[in-house]
Amino acid sequence: MKIRYGEPLSNKAGLKIGGPAFCWIEPGDVEEILEAISIAEANKKTLIVVGKASNILFKDQGFDGVIINLGDGFGFIEKEGMGVLRVGAAVSLACLIEWCAESGFSGCEFLSGIPASFGGAIFMNAGVRQAKDPGEHNEMKDIIVDVDVLDFADRKTKRLKRDEIGFSYRFSGLGRKCILAARIKLENDKKSAIINRMDSFIKGRRWIQGLGFPSAGSIFKNPEGKDPAGRLIEACGLKGKRIGGAEISTVHANVIVNTGGATSRDVLGLIEFVRSRVRNRFGIELELELEIM
Ligand SMILES: Cc1cc2nc3c(=O)[nH]c(=O)nc-3n(C[C@H](O)[C@H](O)[C@H](O)COP(=O)(O)OP(=O)(O)OC[C@H]3O[C@@H](n4cnc5c(N)ncnc54)[C@H](O)[C@@H]3O)c2cc1C
Repeated sequence: MKIRYGEPLSNKAGLKIGGPAFCWIEPGDVEEILEAISIAEANKKTLIVVGKASNILFKDQGFDGVIINLGDGFGFIEKEGMGVLRVGAAVSLACLIEWCAESGFSGCEFLSGIPASFGGAIFMNAGVRQAKDPGEHNEMKDIIVDVDVLDFADRKTKRLKRDEIGFSYRFSGLGRKCILAARIKLENDKKSAIINRMDSFIKGRRWIQGLGFPSAGSIFKNPEGKDPAGRLIEACGLKGKRIGGAEISTVHANVIVNTGGATSRDVLGLIEFVRSRVRNRFGIELELELEIM
């Protein structure tokens, strides 16, 4: 099992910001996760799990705790029959989607272009804002059958059915559990049709390439029943607003980019600035989608 003390986090996180972690561990099986828990306990440190860290801002001073990043033992994709796949939490969405297209499984094309691990995408109930057609999948919860977890509370592995999980917009209710794997239900389709749908989702995310700098995707959740966060921020004239090396993207107003040398202080300052402007102008309290650790 890989265990590294003082691991720099700036090269892990989507925003390329962050000081060192007390300890970075890559367990390959459940026994090794239990060892990681023991290391955290022995050192009286907080324990967290991260995937691709695409939705996390690590602070400049680093993370004084133990970070679990599931290793290769959780990188499997297995067919279970009748369109059901069992997928390890460490599989990247890019690999999963490509594998599904090659094998003729349709239903996860909407995840194309999201730079996440399968486990991180489940935890965040990742997805796109709106389905194009009624009945089309647009969030992780739409394809999940059940999720295998290691519960940090009693250190037992459990299989949780989708309805037991409490999924909602960018939320899973899986706090204090390590997601190990999940079963998803897909449909059979032709490879060419699947690839066409993947391309159409990637086209819809062209703005990601246009950002030109590291980012963590959307900073704020879209407020329910209101204009999307990006539109509110843009209406406040904040595109291009900078603090240090952090900038409200000129391409998408709900994204902060690291134009070079940004610190977590810069990003947090910009977040507070945006929140106060949107609050003052629209009376709306923007809620963070980005996680700060
Ligand atoms: C350019 C860009 C575009 C993006 N576009 C989208 C988009 O269109 N839609 C969308 O929903 N998101 C988007 N995101 C945000 C991000 O990719 C998602 O939130 C994704 O689900 C995070 O996955 P991750 O593996 O990076 O998780 P991380 O960022 O590592 O972690 C996110 C959360 O999940 C938890 N977690 C991760 N793995 C596990 C596990 N195995 N067990 C338990 N908890 C775990 C972490 O503790 C943390 O709380 C985008 C990000 C970027 C940088």
